[in-house]
Amino acid sequence: MKLKVLVIEDNKQNMYMITYLLESYSYEVIQSFNGIDGIQRAKEEKPDIILLDIQLPEMDGYAIASELMKHDELKNIPIIAVTSYAMMGDKEKAMEAGAIGYIEKPIDPDIFVSQMEAFLPSHLVQRSKN
Ligand code: MN
Repeated sequence: MKLKVLVIEDNKQNMYMITYLLESYSYEVIQSFNGIDGIQRAKEEKPDIILLDIQLPEMDGYAIASELMKHDELKNIPIIAVTSYAMMGDKEKAMEAGAIGYIEKPIDPDIFVSQMEAFLPSHLVQRSKN
């Protein structure tokens, strides 16, 4: 069984790259381009992992994480924030909203999947690491 990653990201190039990288490591990817849809997809698909952009139109990543945390069936899905917002306190804000980790943009294709996996318990890592 492939582990399922819900990616909530409004930038098409980033979405394309993240999807390509995760699929090349045998993760299944569910794409969502905004928060309302992302929360809906989380409820429907019960992903194993959520990658969450912080800068999104209308509903930002903090609000999305806070909303996901309100649902018993969703609150245990690990959320990893992905953002270029290089402001002080941004990481802390993401963690307070419920993220377990934080990856800074620009995405580095050589290490992105490893960065994600470093935050995850081993049963949520698609390929066992050596
Ligand atoms: Mn964005």
